[in-house]
Amino acid sequence: MEEKKVVLITGGARGIGRKVAEVYAKNGYDVVINYVSDKTDVEGIKKEIEKRGVKCTLVKADVSKAEEVEKMVEQAIQEFGKIDVLVNNAGITRDCLLMRMSEEDFDKVIEINLKGTYLVTKQVIKYMMKKRQGSIINLASVVGVVGNAGQCNYSASKAGIIGFTKSVAKELAARNIRANAVAPGFIETDMTNVLKDEIKENINEQIPLKRMGTAKEVAELIYFLGSEKSSYITGQVINVDGGMVM
Ligand code: NAP
Repeated sequence: MEEKKVVLITGGARGIGRKVAEVYAKNGYDVVINYVSDKTDVEGIKKEIEKRGVKCTLVKADVSKAEEVEKMVEQAIQEFGKIDVLVNNAGITRDCLLMRMSEEDFDKVIEINLKGTYLVTKQVIKYMMKKRQGSIINLASVVGVVGNAGQCNYSASKAGIIGFTKSVAKELAARNIRANAVAPGFIETDMTNVLKDEIKENINEQIPLKRMGTAKEVAELIYFLGSEKSSYITGQVINVDGGMVM
């Protein structure tokens, strides 16, 4: 029997990350889900994913803390012996106009979104390099490409992720490890649920497809980038945004 592939998803207990876990499980991958919140229904999520006939492990770790990340990756390796696909999905917003943005809110977003991506990738590639195989998918955002008023911290973190992804792609291509970024527009999750209805209507008006995207629409692209079907694609930023940025 062919060995199962393994995916590690940071921030995989809800939103886009949760959908990514479901899509990979549906396609026969064993799944490692990272989370940080104490409220996470660890047993419920594990049961739901394992209904697909795959194994699922949940690991609590703050992706911005090097020690916790190291332990998380070690645990995944102890359990499964390898990581074939890494999805750096964990991310936060702390929106505010620059004039009023605190240093703390700037640092927090950079630490979790950008430094977190660096810390997790650095640990995981040790094992991918040994196998001379792997695919890394980083969650950027269209605002990392075009900017957005009120999100200078978030858009800087996402632009950073794009530069990071391209450098990693160049560094690791010779080892048969690919790295790509996905840049969603507005997707229906807890992150966008906080927006007022009036603002959501305004946003929908500006999207050529006239609606927000679903987590599943992002997850299917992330699955494609992790699979052999995208074996000649690396160092790219792929928008999934209903045509917002062309
Ligand atoms: P979400 O529903 O708010 O979920 C965020 C996830 O990140 C949660 O699973 C959360 O874990 C995790 N997380 C936050 N801080 C963490 C930390 N320090 N360590 C580990 N995990 C942490 O967000 P989403 O909408 O699914 O977004 C997922 C990714 O897509 C993010 O990188 C986001 O920037 C990007 N994105 C989203 C949109 C959108 O419109 N939704 C657009 C562009 C890009 P817990 O569940 O444990 O709290």
